[in-house]
Amino acid sequence: MKDTFKHKGLRKKLVEELKKKGIKSENVLNAILNIPRHFFIDSGFESHAYIDKAFPIGSKQTISQPYTVAYQTSVLNIKENDKVLEIGTGSGYQTAVLIKLKAKVYTIERQHDLYRKAIKKLPLLGYYPELIKYGDGYLGIKDYAPYDKIIITAGATEIPKLLLLQLKIGGEMVIPVGNNIQKMTYVLRVNKNKYEKKILGDFNFVPMLKDKN
Ligand code: SAH
Repeated sequence: MKDTFKHKGLRKKLVEELKKKGIKSENVLNAILNIPRHFFIDSGFESHAYIDKAFPIGSKQTISQPYTVAYQTSVLNIKENDKVLEIGTGSGYQTAVLIKLKAKVYTIERQHDLYRKAIKKLPLLGYYPELIKYGDGYLGIKDYAPYDKIIITAGATEIPKLLLLQLKIGGEMVIPVGNNIQKMTYVLRVNKNKYEKKILGDFNFVPMLKDKN
């Protein structure tokens, strides 16, 4: 895998585009500028890597659109050493962005093929999550809870209760909620029993699946 001047140039353009679309966080833009997104897409389709679109990664899933990755990451205001739970490892690109921001990342994926690829690829590229787990994101990863931040990268029909319980007090979650179009939803855990919710913009995600298939 090569990261050429051409790739770097395309990333610069992508970052400019994201700025125009309203992404302001310098840290997030910098992470996107420095992570070769084409490494997370099957070779042969590299030319799609720096277009601001989602792209198929197999198992009927997609790598999230760069704007969406930037948006969700910005909403969570990731800081060094934040303990972050990611639901939907997928290609591992969002995971890499979180790690670039020096978060401690626990990520879970329910498609075995994608999980297998991610456990190989991320360390190979120099990104080391604390844990990559094969399993059902609706359950979260209780063993390592609570988390400072939780990011859900698939569209859920409702906010999973078990995930809310795995947030620290003061912890924050970003989750796309809805069937065809999702409302990006921000949740703050105010105290043990109180959560504050804010609805942000409309997005389009692959569904967060229950059971098998
Ligand atoms: N963060 C990924 C986004 C992939 S799309 C990336 O940047 O590439 C959403 C991912 O969520 C898919 O890989 C899908 O398989 C996964 N997913 C869907 N339902 C899930 C569930 N219940 N538990 C864990 N992962 C799930």
